[in-house]
Amino acid sequence: MNLVFLGPPGAGKGTLAGLAAPYLNIPHISTGAIFRKAIAAGTQLGIRIKANIDAGGLVDDPTTIKLVSERLTLDDAKKGYILDGFPRDIVQAKALDTFSKVDKVIDFDIDDDGVLARLAGRRVCRKCGFNWHITFNPPKIANICDKCGGEVYIRDDDKKESVKKRLEVYRKVTAPLIAYYRGKGILVNIDSRGGIEPIFAAFKRIF
Ligand SMILES: [Zn+2]
Repeated sequence: MNLVFLGPPGAGKGTLAGLAAPYLNIPHISTGAIFRKAIAAGTQLGIRIKANIDAGGLVDDPTTIKLVSERLTLDDAKKGYILDGFPRDIVQAKALDTFSKVDKVIDFDIDDDGVLARLAGRRVCRKCGFNWHITFNPPKIANICDKCGGEVYIRDDDKKESVKKRLEVYRKVTAPLIAYYRGKGILVNIDSRGGIEPIFAAFKRIF
């Protein structure tokens, strides 16, 4: 099952992917994690990506497409995947169509106020990358990841000023993908205003 998770930052995509990936036994592939891995590896590519992100910009389409297409050739992605953060625009969506066949696109439906409320509480594990939320999905011990004991922190791009900018970019650049995938007849909506449990329940009703 090849899935794309589509929705604004803070819609709960990453959190749901953390639950849905083991549920369907397919990998959760996020561009954020791919970029962080490239940066940590310290390659030329990683250095360029870091410069892009630090400047508040986005990683360019050719670089992103190359990294994702390479990731999809790994063994664990042969039986399926959940793509999170990709495709981000029509150029990437059309590229994806050339190297993989998407079965379903889950559209996480939430307005900007809902996003701001959700992102204010979002925390990420520094070690395993799991997404926590201080209201909707808190770790048992504050700031410590239940899964791996890693430190749970606020990502820079979850801070309010960058959230507003990312929302603007999403509505302009990424939201047109909703019509693109609806046209292909593979779009499924999930109401993403509440906590993670109702979102996961709605997801399980699809599969
Ligand atoms: Zn962790």
